[in-house]
Amino acid sequence: MTATYDADLQLFINGAWRSGEGREARPVYNPATAATIAELPVATAADLEEALAAAARGWPVWRAKTPDERAALMRKAAGLIRERADHIATLLTLEQGKPIAEARGEVLSASSLLEYFAEQGKRIEGRVVQRPAGQRAMVLKQPVGPVAAFSPWNFPVNLMIKKVAPALAAGCVVIAKAPEETPGCTSAIMRCLADAGIPGDVVQLVYGNPDMISRHLLGSEVIRKVSFTGSTAVGKHLMKLAADRVQRITMELGGHAPVLVFDDCDLETTLDRVVTQKFRNAGQVCVSPTRFYVQDGIYDAFVKGFAERTARVKIGSGLDAGTQMGPLANARRAPALEAMIADATAKGARVIAGGAATGEGYFFQPTALADVPLDADAMNNEPFGPMALIRPFATEEDALEQANRLPYGLAAFAFTENGRRINRVADGIESGMVGINSFVISANDMPFGGIKESGFGSESGPEGLDGYLVAKAVHIY
Ligand code: NAD
Repeated sequence: MTATYDADLQLFINGAWRSGEGREARPVYNPATAATIAELPVATAADLEEALAAAARGWPVWRAKTPDERAALMRKAAGLIRERADHIATLLTLEQGKPIAEARGEVLSASSLLEYFAEQGKRIEGRVVQRPAGQRAMVLKQPVGPVAAFSPWNFPVNLMIKKVAPALAAGCVVIAKAPEETPGCTSAIMRCLADAGIPGDVVQLVYGNPDMISRHLLGSEVIRKVSFTGSTAVGKHLMKLAADRVQRITMELGGHAPVLVFDDCDLETTLDRVVTQKFRNAGQVCVSPTRFYVQDGIYDAFVKGFAERTARVKIGSGLDAGTQMGPLANARRAPALEAMIADATAKGARVIAGGAATGEGYFFQPTALADVPLDADAMNNEPFGPMALIRPFATEEDALEQANRLPYGLAAFAFTENGRRINRVADGIESGMVGINSFVISANDMPFGGIKESGFGSESGPEGLDGYLVAKAVHIY
């Protein structure tokens, strides 16, 4: 299947779509072919100043609206996203690479998340605390203020809306810095919000030099909250910048998800699930299952089954019917993955499937390594690609120790049919999210987030809305 990349790439500042006018531009690539498909205008310091001034003006107006008024506009935007889903999904696949069905699912999930938060915004409640007659103590929940939202290229639509939707529902205004690699789909989503009537000083969109933009926005007294999804290294850097103005922060950072496969699991079903999930979005998922710890008794059968299924994963253009895994989203990931494989094999790991870049564009073979030693670089740093690392364990205690050995704590998974063990593992594993016999750990009404160096704060669910609210104590005597 062929499709035209007809993205309208512009910045959206103070209600106006902007490009050209002497701004620098940077190329956008199709990762399936490595061809340049568009030029993206880059925000200048003057653009950011204008966006900040607009946000400062827009905030008191937006926070003064009723939750019903805000919800009506958000629901209208959600409807427009659904109507335009096919077009937005095609842009997403052309600039990011994922299979078109996954792209469409991502776009629809953004629509559904907007609807969820539109309703959730009507349920913001404070507390009244009992005091002697005539006196009151109250806790009010108020919007934190203008938000700077930084979202990455792996789920560009979903992760931008995961920040924008709760911010709008809470009564905050947002300047979104969407990913430069995948600007067409995020611009199209922003157009839905604008076309729905959400004011142009309430949601704004910029692209450009990430470091320049984050320094500029976080250096402003207008911004009261920073929300970031990306690598732990960049997250730590932004936390330091935010410290200067004591801005509130939500950080969704890297992960290195362990999967504990016990010998009492349903092996064939487990293998089908883990292999499908490992190669979803070419492994470029912060909660991607990565370290597979498999109990001794089923280790050989697991390795064999994993290798066979991995060899059958169909890679190709995300637009082609039947493609299960597209290319990596950008050129820089393949050399990093190849270096990790060379390091692991030099230390004794076996490549049981894939192991190299392939074809034109940024394709990488679905890859699995067995007997991976703990000191392999890949066992300690996030591969963020289509790479599974497998090693055996003997006891449940051993498995939990392995799972918890890294500074990451985003998602963890376990496969077992033992009810008591399920509780012990869910309690003992150090991570923000746990999936038992399932990888479904992202839901509108559940918190999504990590602990340890995977970040703090949650997105989605009532907890996600809380991140955009501050508590004010009022004492009346
Ligand atoms: P990177 O560290 O260069 O960038 C990660 C993200 O942060 C990108 O979206 C980038 O635009 C943004 N960014 C970088 N510097 C920034 C700055 N100074 N201010 C604001 N934003 C900034 O890595 P990459 O090569 O793009 O991606 C690979 C790594 O990023 C992976 O190892 C993974 O850990 C992480 N990542 C995580 C997620 C996630 O969902 N948690 C998503 C994408 C990338």
